[in-house]
Amino acid sequence: MSSFNILLDPKTSPTFPIAARAALGDTQLRKNVRHATEVIQNKRARVVGEMPDWQQLRETGKQIRQHTMAHLDFYLEEFERNCTRAGGKVHWARDGEEAKRIATQLVKEHVSPDSPEVIKIKSMTTEEIHLNLALEAAGIRVYETDLAELIIQLGHDQPSHIVVPALHKNRQQIREIFQREMNLPALGEKPQDLADAARRFLREKFLRVDTAVSGANFLIAETGSVTIVESEGNGRMCLTLPDTLITIAGIDKVLPRFVDLEVMLQLLPRSATGERMNPYNSIWTGVRPGDGPRNFHVILMDNARTEVLADAEGRQTLNCIRCGACQNACPVYRQTGGHAYGSVYAGPIGAILTPQLQQLHHAQTLPYASSLCGACYEVCPVKINIPEVLIHLRNKVVKQKGPLNPEAIAMKTMGAIFRSERRFRAAQRLGRIAETPLVRKDGSGEGWIGWLPGLLGGWTQVRDLREMPKETFRDWWEKRSSHGR
Ligand code: SF4
Repeated sequence: MSSFNILLDPKTSPTFPIAARAALGDTQLRKNVRHATEVIQNKRARVVGEMPDWQQLRETGKQIRQHTMAHLDFYLEEFERNCTRAGGKVHWARDGEEAKRIATQLVKEHVSPDSPEVIKIKSMTTEEIHLNLALEAAGIRVYETDLAELIIQLGHDQPSHIVVPALHKNRQQIREIFQREMNLPALGEKPQDLADAARRFLREKFLRVDTAVSGANFLIAETGSVTIVESEGNGRMCLTLPDTLITIAGIDKVLPRFVDLEVMLQLLPRSATGERMNPYNSIWTGVRPGDGPRNFHVILMDNARTEVLADAEGRQTLNCIRCGACQNACPVYRQTGGHAYGSVYAGPIGAILTPQLQQLHHAQTLPYASSLCGACYEVCPVKINIPEVLIHLRNKVVKQKGPLNPEAIAMKTMGAIFRSERRFRAAQRLGRIAETPLVRKDGSGEGWIGWLPGLLGGWTQVRDLREMPKETFRDWWEKRSSHGR
């Protein structure tokens, strides 16, 4: 298994406007994304419509997550105590580099030096830190076992959706990847054929490899348990067959009590895949003789989450339970797909999470990758007000650029003009004179401007601007009044 052809890293990826332009030119990608998001959205709407108390559930989910974030230190320490008591070993990682170092060291301690390899459960946290690359660099072979992640890995690709990482690929493209990488030239293209090929490919790994790496959907402080939800059962194989299990989880994944799962396990599957319940819900607590892995490690990773927590307005981002519903609902994501976001977190959640995890040093265009239509807020199962956070981040981006950046100067100038009637009228007169050489008349005599210079050109890149009226409402009103009407 080799590394990726592309790497979604906010530090090195092109900005969203540049990457989105390329994605918009890929009609196959747009067709695949549109089809897949429509199917999931329709399924979600059906199962959510069955729940008369859906809005109450959302509110409860929000309250649980808000309470957890307000007492995160307490619940993380409680989780550590209870997980340790049950036989697990908890490690703390300040950032992605430390998490990768700990994970690589643990894998090396447990795998056989003759065949250093691990099987892996789908995990966005490990994608966030590019764990596979670190393990490969240390000479460890990594086998993704989630079907979509396997497609991504074999296709030397990167995930484009939190829940359905290979959503941008259609069946024909998946077949070509399997034919090439599994050496199956006669492979059919029915879903059954593809699933059979993946099953045969993975089964041998499940039976041979004795170390697994997982993420976590939830950590339960009260019991020290870890929860994974999935649809295929491949995760369950990784959790039960190997001798050693290493779980890497963001510190935001903790829930206070076991009973909180009752709410989360109703909200998550309905929002994520349009299912009433995930086919496989695995909950494990430490180690137990004769049952499952004998060595169990949990790496609790911060990676800038405490900085997000410190921001009163941005903090709600950490309430996310990674269902992907906001991605499916977003009119921007549905056109560009996930790779344009330059991060493994795409769509509305990516637009608010990635810049904050980067402390706004990178991905500064992402908060603008939204029309602020609010569709993401409507579907979010824990009621994260994504548009509110986007505006908050836009504000921070502008402030971070300092008072002398062109946008700040333009806004200040506009403010000064709008505060004075005299200046406003003068600006209107000036605008009418300045636009004259740019105006083109259409067949009906209407004037349109198709190109504007400098900063203003952002508007005319995607739409024409109507010529300013020769007479303003105020002029008309004054003329009318002076005629005694
Ligand atoms: S922000 Fe809300 S809708 Fe989007 S992935 Fe997170 S929980 Fe789901």
